[in-house]
Amino acid sequence: MKKLSITMKITIWYTVFMFIIAGVFVAALTYTGSMRAGELARTRLMDSVVDAVDEIETVKEDFIIDDDLEFYDDGVYISVYDEDKELIEGRRPAELSELPELRDTELEKLESSDGETWYVYDRMFDMNGRDIWVRGIVKDFAESGSVAAMLRIAAVAFPALVIFAALGGYVITRRGFGPVRNILRTVGEISRDGDLSRRIVQDKEPGSPKDEIYNLSETFNGMFGRLEETFEKEKQFTSDVSHELRTPLSVIISQSDYAIEDEEYREKALKVINREAKRMAGLVSRLLTLARSDAGRLKLDRELVDLSSLCETVAWQQEEPAAKRNIKIHSEISPGITVCGDEAMLIRVLLNLMDNAVKYGKDGGNVELSLSQSDDMACFKVRDDGIGIGQDDLPKIWERFYRVDGSRSEDSAGLGLSMVEAIVKAHGGHVEAESVLHEGSCFTVMIPVWRKDNDNQ
Ligand code: ADP
Repeated sequence: MKKLSITMKITIWYTVFMFIIAGVFVAALTYTGSMRAGELARTRLMDSVVDAVDEIETVKEDFIIDDDLEFYDDGVYISVYDEDKELIEGRRPAELSELPELRDTELEKLESSDGETWYVYDRMFDMNGRDIWVRGIVKDFAESGSVAAMLRIAAVAFPALVIFAALGGYVITRRGFGPVRNILRTVGEISRDGDLSRRIVQDKEPGSPKDEIYNLSETFNGMFGRLEETFEKEKQFTSDVSHELRTPLSVIISQSDYAIEDEEYREKALKVINREAKRMAGLVSRLLTLARSDAGRLKLDRELVDLSSLCETVAWQQEEPAAKRNIKIHSEISPGITVCGDEAMLIRVLLNLMDNAVKYGKDGGNVELSLSQSDDMACFKVRDDGIGIGQDDLPKIWERFYRVDGSRSEDSAGLGLSMVEAIVKAHGGHVEAESVLHEGSCFTVMIPVWRKDNDNQ
């Protein structure tokens, strides 16, 4: 069965609701109206009968009926009978073929052959020692008077009102759902065409209030924006990875070709192949670390690591490449700072930062390395006085494959700092960078220290 649209459901719901409300209203109106009309008919009937007696006199043996007595007035039929219950004068409705016996002060309800309700009221009066009967007959006002007219109006107006409300409501609801249909259409087109650059456009007057539907389309737009960004990053990442792997691979292929053909060149070629293979291995290892970190599966082989001696070793290791550029390394390392972490990973962090400081440092410049402890954090800082990073680039250096200036260093893939950040985060710490272009940079790593009394790792 075809499902009803929300517009249709709402229309049906309130049409039924209105139908019930109007029905109850008309029923209540009819009931109270007819009760009131019946009461009115009976009162008028009884009053007319009592008034009629005032118009009758006796002169000797005869009854004299005044000319003022109207035998049909305001819907009430009046007839006068003598003590033998013989009609003297009066009128009776043609609809009532049979009338009951005269009975004093009794109000009787009758039904005519055409199904209408009538009231009969008889009174016996003593007039100079003789009995006289006055009978009044009236039709129930509910059937003849204003109530019936009102019911006839209601019978026409009520269905017309319900139809009008249903049609009007349907049009308004359909219009109200217009923006939702617009959202559905656009989202459908986006998912069909895969064009994530599209956005839902709402026809809105500037300054008009932001309702739920507006917020819904803005939420969708925000989601499309983030999806588009993620897909773009994904695409960029894939192309960066293939680009970075292609270069060493083509070197390896060409060098191995030479090595096969030229025996003399073979040793040199093998050295190049070895260097490029190591470069590739380094790249793949960084990518793996990042991929694991993304998936939340970066496993740390935790142990107690003497960060102070680790820093000493890294500083010593960097002496040689620094010396090649006449860079002096100054270290200020507080002894005995221990963390609970993965030693190999921590070495990668320290080496990367030191390597960058030397790589992007100034010929004949200085690199300062310090390790200290503040509160529960080990604070490792590497400062250089090299080329520095512009303020626009500074936030982007943590992005994968981002290099401030592609031509600055051939031996860089732009993955080092992303990996440093992932490893430091996995250790429960954080890393930050400060830099001034052409003056130098300072990278700070904070990692929680290990405490004997609080084995927090
Ligand atoms: P790379 O392998 O290119 O060094 P990184 O992720 O370690 O990759 O660094 C990203 C970019 O940040 C580098 O390409 C470089 O432009 C910039 N950068 C990193 N460290 C420094 C530094 N100490 N001084 C100046 N620029 C730096």
